[in-house]
Amino acid sequence: KFSKDFGQHILKNPGIAEAIVNKANLKPTDTVLEVGPGTGNLTVKILEQAKKVIAVEMDPRMAAETTKRVQGKPEQKRLEVLLGDVIKTTLPSFDVCISNTPYQISSPLVFKLLSMPNPPRTCVLMFQREFAMRLTARPSDPLYCRLSVNAQFWARITHILKVGRNNFRPPPQVDSSVVRIEPKLGSERPNISFEEWDGMLRICFNRRNKTLRASWLGNKQVLLLIERNYRLWCATNDIPVDDDLVMVDNDDEMWEVVGDEVVPAPAAMDVDDEEDDMESPLFFKSEPSSQVEKTRSHKTYPKVYLLIKEKVRRVLEDVTDLADKRSGKCDENDFLRLLGAFNAEGIHFS
Ligand code: SAM
Repeated sequence: KFSKDFGQHILKNPGIAEAIVNKANLKPTDTVLEVGPGTGNLTVKILEQAKKVIAVEMDPRMAAETTKRVQGKPEQKRLEVLLGDVIKTTLPSFDVCISNTPYQISSPLVFKLLSMPNPPRTCVLMFQREFAMRLTARPSDPLYCRLSVNAQFWARITHILKVGRNNFRPPPQVDSSVVRIEPKLGSERPNISFEEWDGMLRICFNRRNKTLRASWLGNKQVLLLIERNYRLWCATNDIPVDDDLVMVDNDDEMWEVVGDEVVPAPAAMDVDDEEDDMESPLFFKSEPSSQVEKTRSHKTYPKVYLLIKEKVRRVLEDVTDLADKRSGKCDENDFLRLLGAFNAEGIHFS
C-alpha cells in the first residue's frame, strides 16, 4: 500500500506527532507549510493550533487521504493541499514548516528552506538519524560536511527528539531524529549571497579529507570554473581580460604569473594532483576551455587561466594561510576569511 519511492513511512505513534507539533511553538496566527502530509496525522494536529496549513504532497492517493481527514469539518477551509513535488513548487509565504520528511528530499528541502529570501521563523523536521547528525556536526567530526557548514551558517540547529524506527508503518531501515531549524532573520542573517557562499563550499568540500590546496589547485575543472566566473565578473564590471595565449613547457606548474606577466617559476608547485579522486560528483558542467590545447609536449594556456591559478595560490598560501588545512577541520570563520580573500581578488562563485 505504501510507496517506497515516495519514502512513505507513516508515523503511527500519536504521542510523537503531538510532540513534533508542540515543539514548533505555533501561534494562532501562523500559516504552516507541511511537506508530505501522507494520511494527515500531523496535519490535523497542526490545524488545532495554527490559522492555516498548506500541505504539499506528491502522491495523489495521499493528497486525497489528507483532504478526506477534514472533509465537512470547519478545519476544511483552513487546509490547502497542493499536489506536486515540494522541491519544484514555488512556495507561498509561510511562518513555520513541519514535516516528517521523505528521506530522498532531506538535503534539497533544507537547502530550499535556508535559501528562501524570506525564510520561515522555525522548522521542525523529522530526518533519518545520520542526516540529523550531519546537520549538527562540528568541525573535525566525521560527519562534518558542506551541509553542516551551510545549515549552521544560515540557521540555529537543535536536535530535539530521537524516534525509533518502530514508530513508523512500515518501519524504515534506520532510526530517525526530530530537528529544529531556526533560520537567522533580519540583522542576524549573514549579509552574503547564499549562492556565493555555497558555491565556494562546494569546491572546498569536493575532497573533504584532502587539503584545500588539493581541492583548489589540484583540479583543473575547478580552475576552469573559476576562470569562467572571473571572465563573467570582468565583463559585468567592464574590466578588460588579457586573452593572449601562453605556451607552457610540459606542464604549467613550471610557470607562474607575477602581476600580469607569466614567468618561469623557480620551482614546481607542490600540488596534490589526483583529479579522479572526487568524493562527490562534480557539481558543474564545464567544458575544458577550447583555448587550452595540447601541442606535442607543450600546452597553450590563456594568460587569464594562469593568472587565476596564481590568484588562488596567493589566497590559499599567502593571504589566508589555509592551504594545508583540510575542509573537514575548517570552521565558519576560516570559510569567511577564505571568501573575503577570494572576493578581494575578484573571484566569485555565483
Ligand atoms: N506526514 C505523514 C506522517 O508523518 O505519517 C507521512 C510522512 S512520509 C515519511 C512522507 C510523505 O511525503 C509521503 O506521503 C510521500 O508521498 C510524500 N512525498 C515524497 N516525496 C515528496 C515530494 N518530493 N514532495 C512532496 N511530498 C512528497
